[in-house]
Amino acid sequence: MSRLGGKVALITGGSKGIGREIAIRFKEEGAGVVITYNSSREMALTLEKGGIKIVKCDVTKRNEVKGAIEFVKKEFGRLDILVNNAGIMLNMPFEDFDENKVRKMIDTNIMGVIYSTLESLEMLKKSHGKIINIASNAGIGTAFSNTTFYSMTKASVINLTKRMAFDFSKYGVRVNSIAPGWIETDLTTYARTPEETERIKNFLEKSTTIGRYGKVDDISKVAVFLASDESDYINGQVLLVDGGRTDYLAHSI
Ligand code: NDP
Repeated sequence: MSRLGGKVALITGGSKGIGREIAIRFKEEGAGVVITYNSSREMALTLEKGGIKIVKCDVTKRNEVKGAIEFVKKEFGRLDILVNNAGIMLNMPFEDFDENKVRKMIDTNIMGVIYSTLESLEMLKKSHGKIINIASNAGIGTAFSNTTFYSMTKASVINLTKRMAFDFSKYGVRVNSIAPGWIETDLTTYARTPEETERIKNFLEKSTTIGRYGKVDDISKVAVFLASDESDYINGQVLLVDGGRTDYLAHSI
């Protein structure tokens, strides 16, 4: 039996990486799926061929978010699952504080979650739906060097998850978060040389209890669980999906 049959899901930032894999898996589990893309239109178009609906939306712009939600309403007339996944990571040492970059992370990683949630809430109230916020292990303080400001934005996502779960409980809307560890995607590799990426992977093989770095389907499986009825008695929680990392007390590499 499909685990998401009859449900409709919206995944922000579903053109690539973790969001894309969540979209594919949700579709396989029987959901009607809409993803938003911002710059990766070509990637989004390849999903459209598989029956996933796509809509352009920069989550930092509330009017575009509103448009994406109207698209969902027009296509499906309902929304059961919102995955707030769109996010960016711009690294810098603390003392090289770059205000534009930090504000861009705040706008995308925090304001994007707020706008998407606000605009979706009317439909989610009707369906007693579920929100899944993609945070990060960085949000609980673990991360690689130069990611302090990114970590700050993800700590906010964790806090928003707990507060939104409380605020929306009166509507029967559940809100949980997945905090992935290091997952191989463009986000984690684009600003690093292949040698640096290899070094991180080798490090993670030693510093996770499971003995390997993460892959996108490690996260999409958990997203299916949180989106499905199987998680009905879970609310306001943060699921750390990081292979059991053991290096939590210091910058690791
Ligand atoms: P990717 O870079 O592979 O994908 C990021 C996605 O976010 C893309 O679909 C991109 O869309 C979208 N996006 C970025 N900016 C915007 C914007 N302004 N408006 C709308 N969409 C936007 O990253 P990941 O898949 O790795 O990251 C997904 C989420 O997981 C993020 O929130 C990230 O912080 C989080 N995460 C990732 C980890 C990892 O190790 N990879 C670890 C912990 C958390 P487009 O390309 O179309 O512009």
